[in-house]
Amino acid sequence: MGEELIFGWTSCLTYETGRRRLGGDYFSRLLDEMEAKGMKRLTVMMDNCHLPPLDSYNHGLAWPVRNPRLRSQVDTKAINAHEDSEFFSTVIEKAKRLGIEIYLEIKYMGMRGIEPGYPGIEFWKELNAGEHEHEGAKTLRICCDNDQARQYMRDKIEDVVGRYADIDGIVLEHPSYWGIGCSCRGSRKKFLLDRGKNIFEAGEEEIIAWQNQRVKKVVSDLVKLVKSIRTGIKCGLYTGFSPEDGNIERYQRIRGHGIETLRDIGLDFVMPYCEGRHRDKERTEMERVIEYLKPIDVYLHTTIRRNPPRGYLDLPKGPAYIRHIIEWAKGYSKKERRLTGMTFFNEVNIPQENRNAVYETITKQHEC
Ligand SMILES: [Zn+2]
Repeated sequence: MGEELIFGWTSCLTYETGRRRLGGDYFSRLLDEMEAKGMKRLTVMMDNCHLPPLDSYNHGLAWPVRNPRLRSQVDTKAINAHEDSEFFSTVIEKAKRLGIEIYLEIKYMGMRGIEPGYPGIEFWKELNAGEHEHEGAKTLRICCDNDQARQYMRDKIEDVVGRYADIDGIVLEHPSYWGIGCSCRGSRKKFLLDRGKNIFEAGEEEIIAWQNQRVKKVVSDLVKLVKSIRTGIKCGLYTGFSPEDGNIERYQRIRGHGIETLRDIGLDFVMPYCEGRHRDKERTEMERVIEYLKPIDVYLHTTIRRNPPRGYLDLPKGPAYIRHIIEWAKGYSKKERRLTGMTFFNEVNIPQENRNAVYETITKQHEC
């Protein structure tokens, strides 16, 4: 028989936890529950990058950082963010005893308070955008062409992976370009150096090709950094989505995530977004995305929230959707071996009936 799918949760120390302050007991119980249900991987978001009103209580890095440049981004309300109440290392120890893998999710994004540590950091700025910028874009979308952003990401990864070096892997979300061309100083300077011309004078295709070249460089640098901390740590990247017009390749390439880029930057796997946005076409569209990502292994980021954040296009999910998507993955993985498993998000923000639907469907024997 073939290999089993790896099922897991994506959970959070502080994102969408509302007013609850989750500590070691919460995750200890979760691990016991996972072991009982045969789940093999826990992915944990180590920060909360969202700005109010999405989640107004927590914001920032949720571990006790050692690098002084990162300090102004720490979420002091997070229990794990203080040396004397840090508990995540005990979660890792327990997971190891139970044979459950731990992955950290790390975003290529800044938090509020990034500027004092990284003066001169720049944010993605649409070509010809003028001065109108969304506050979120300005705070979060650090531009990967900016040298301070590069330093920040290296510092952040060294700090969190260095502290929790016993983890099994990390998953990076972004860098991505949010459109064709960025007009920040870093992008203008690097484009000129690489292409010998002003980015404002370049054609769309040339900019898109360059964005892919940039992501290749930036991500492979971070993958090397992680593997230099400990060789065995696996590296994944959130990527893979079918946009409304169905043009996966164009969507991926504009972000800098064309398959030609992704397949040779040392990634162990990618995590496509399985968010139910395609309604009754979700299965077909996910299969197209997985096909596009050949030959890389795929681990599905499966959102099953009943209450997605306001402004998100995800539909509210219930038990029927959950059963539908898991049954599809079980069947599809028999012919597409690159589908290695699926993780369900967000563990801290789902109703009990969704949790039960996950457990019942993953443990159900497949009729052969
Ligand atoms: Zn830029």
